[in-house]
Amino acid sequence: MIRVPCPHCGERDETEFHYGGEAGVDYPADPGALDDAAWSSYLFVRSNPRGWLRERWFHGAGCRRWLTVERHTVTDEIRSPS
Ligand SMILES: [Zn+2]
Repeated sequence: MIRVPCPHCGERDETEFHYGGEAGVDYPADPGALDDAAWSSYLFVRSNPRGWLRERWFHGAGCRRWLTVERHTVTDEIRSPS
């Protein structure tokens, strides 16, 4: 069980959250200008590191806010972003 530190509610079980994917993936400023390869890259290509990754999580069973955490992709250890 992963425990997620919510800055508003405290540490809670991951079952209270919805995973939102990698943090820092900005929506393109002019999506109509992208070709298929660039649009596909925006939708599907992520960094997928072996180690720490900044992620967005939604606390649906709590404060109903989005938060950013760092999760280690090997150990699933979660910490607040530095
Ligand atoms: Zn919360």
